[in-house]
Amino acid sequence: FGGGEPPWLVDLNPEQREAVTTIDGPLLVLSGAGTGKTRVLTTRLAHIIGLRMAQPWQCLAVTFTNRAAREMRERLSGMIGGPAESVWLGTFHAICVRILRRHAEAVGLKSGFLILDTDDQMRLLKQLLEGAGIDSKKWPPQAIMGVIQRWKDRGLAPDKVPAEDARAAGGGSILALYKSYQARLAELNACDFGDLLLHCLTLFQTHHDILEEYQDRFRYILVDEYQDTNVAQYLWLRLLARKHRNICCVGDDDQSIYSWRGAEVGNILRFEKDFPGAKVVRLERNYRSTPTILKAASHLIRNNEERLGKELRAPGVEDVGPKLCVRGVWSADEEARWLVDEIESLQAKGAPLSGMAVLVRAGFQTREFEERLITTGLPYRVIGGPRFYERMEIRDALAYLRLLVSPDDDLAFERVVNKPKRGLGEATIQTLHLSARALGKPLYLAALDVIETDELKPKPRAALRDFCETIERFKSLAPVMDLPELVRTLMEDSGYAEMWRRDKSPEAPGRLENLDELYGAVEAYDGLTQFLEHISLVMENEARAAEDPGVTLMTLHAAKGLEFDVVFLPGWEEEIFPHKRALEEGGMAALEEERRLAYVGITRARQRVFISFAASRRVFGQWVNAIPSRFIDELPPECVEAQSESGLYGAGFAESGGAWGGAWEDGWGGRQRSSKIIPGDGTSFNVKPREAEEGLAVGVRVFHQKFGYGVIQRKDED
Ligand code: ATP
Ligand code: MG
Repeated sequence: FGGGEPPWLVDLNPEQREAVTTIDGPLLVLSGAGTGKTRVLTTRLAHIIGLRMAQPWQCLAVTFTNRAAREMRERLSGMIGGPAESVWLGTFHAICVRILRRHAEAVGLKSGFLILDTDDQMRLLKQLLEGAGIDSKKWPPQAIMGVIQRWKDRGLAPDKVPAEDARAAGGGSILALYKSYQARLAELNACDFGDLLLHCLTLFQTHHDILEEYQDRFRYILVDEYQDTNVAQYLWLRLLARKHRNICCVGDDDQSIYSWRGAEVGNILRFEKDFPGAKVVRLERNYRSTPTILKAASHLIRNNEERLGKELRAPGVEDVGPKLCVRGVWSADEEARWLVDEIESLQAKGAPLSGMAVLVRAGFQTREFEERLITTGLPYRVIGGPRFYERMEIRDALAYLRLLVSPDDDLAFERVVNKPKRGLGEATIQTLHLSARALGKPLYLAALDVIETDELKPKPRAALRDFCETIERFKSLAPVMDLPELVRTLMEDSGYAEMWRRDKSPEAPGRLENLDELYGAVEAYDGLTQFLEHISLVMENEARAAEDPGVTLMTLHAAKGLEFDVVFLPGWEEEIFPHKRALEEGGMAALEEERRLAYVGITRARQRVFISFAASRRVFGQWVNAIPSRFIDELPPECVEAQSESGLYGAGFAESGGAWGGAWEDGWGGRQRSSKIIPGDGTSFNVKPREAEEGLAVGVRVFHQKFGYGVIQRKDED
């Protein structure tokens, strides 16, 4: 470097520099959001390899997501070029798979072993339960799977589960199931997700030669998002680092948000004990956010008791940045409208859409914003999951609805005829296909004929008749029933919603929330046909939107480690955020984890934060009042600019800058008025009061199912 120092060190502050250049020995970097932990880790890799302290393949770097791994590799190649390719860089799982493929035999697998997803996993466990004659009502498979997974998170293979734990779990019966589950997996040459780590751990514990090979190889070990590692991962790291003891972990206890997946903050405390003499570096200077954003986030997180405690300091800039905008609105629709308007006006001022993110607590919340973004033609992407109308349960529900409207929709028929399982398997579908072809009719209409014949065996025939009767009944109900109620009862009577209620997988509650959201979504439409037309329009738009990255929509959990110029945090209402389940089940610990999520959310922002809450939401087509999240009250008033719809809160709202608990009930009342939307061609039509209630105003862009897009030009108050 021409006698000077390596270029990657130039911009670092003294603490960061220390963390990067203290290469030998255990090192813990414990610091708040945006202080450069990830940057330190990447630079440290560059430093080690660049100064030839180790070959790239002698370095192991663990990230929390595959995306984070990709990003880190890109940054690294930016600093050191080609050698970046050879670093062992990935998630715990990815690295364990790589090791296990090489040594599968040593843990009783073959190299081409299968990795099961959660569905396969549950199916297998259910088979075992049936085989053992265990009543799945008394022993819900998902609860059993939960116990097994927690054991795996703790690095406990069946023979390692402590006797008292085994006794506590069904007097040993769950341990017995765990054993047979693992045995069955081995027979199938398969493992589940948790096994990847567990097997790798077992491999190291039982094969010292193999462990030594990796201990020798990995001279330097680096771990990001350390606060979210579980015990199994910790033990794995400890084994690998034992020889060279060059392990560097970076993390932030205030961002620990995965305890529900077995993560243990205690790993931070354990580190200093297990690696005596470990150096601890604290980075205090935050490079990401404005002083105002930092102050707000720090103030909020101080309400948590369980924390190691640290402060964040913004670089010495004059400008403290704009206040956090906290906006109260009447309804969820209005929230979406306001939020997207803000996005548009920021964009008009030159802010790129790719620098903006909407972070939600639960997946179902994206629906309202997706629709609004589509209405306004702004590109967006949903990260970490499909867009709302592409989610499995929503597609299923839509297939039911399509069948009501178009009996010739074979795809819809095939999608739902055996969902939930009605005993209409391949053979029945085959018979239906043959009949349909012979009769020259679509599948559903053929089915109506077939149930009158004896082509099918009695059981499937009865099941198919049941299905057809449900569809026929709802077809006749459709013109007379309120749309949300129609969709909801159809999902109930068909057994579809019940299927998810019985499903105890971790995704099931979210799917039910999405269905509830759908019942609310249909309310804005006059009939099924209009609603389905709207959906096809939405889908078409989505295809187009995919070309530009646009605004990012994601959950708070998925946003860890990322940063955006502008962050929108909608739905800050009690029971949404903090989440209902956390309030009901978890006590103090769960609430503090929700608060850490809020902290993660706010600290994703570089420039601006917009928080919002609605006074009411539609649940099952009913208006339900909502209470602003307690987290709003925990923001420092001087950092907040409170805004609200006129009349929503008492006059004190804006000045109170945060303390609006009391004024809130008073302002609430039905605002009935009708509005006229005037489409581009000048014809006008009345909007139902229900829609008007949601704050249609002159200049607002709207979508109407009959008239399409338009701008409100005039409004008549009653
Ligand atoms: P999180 O806790 O959210 O994961 P972090 O501690 O990992 O945050 P980084 O993502 O590494 O923080 O850094 C936050 C931002 O600050 C990044 O944009 C990074 O490039 C920038 N940054 C970090 N250190 C410096 C520095 N010394 N000079 C300039 N910018 C920096
Ligand atoms: Mg980071």
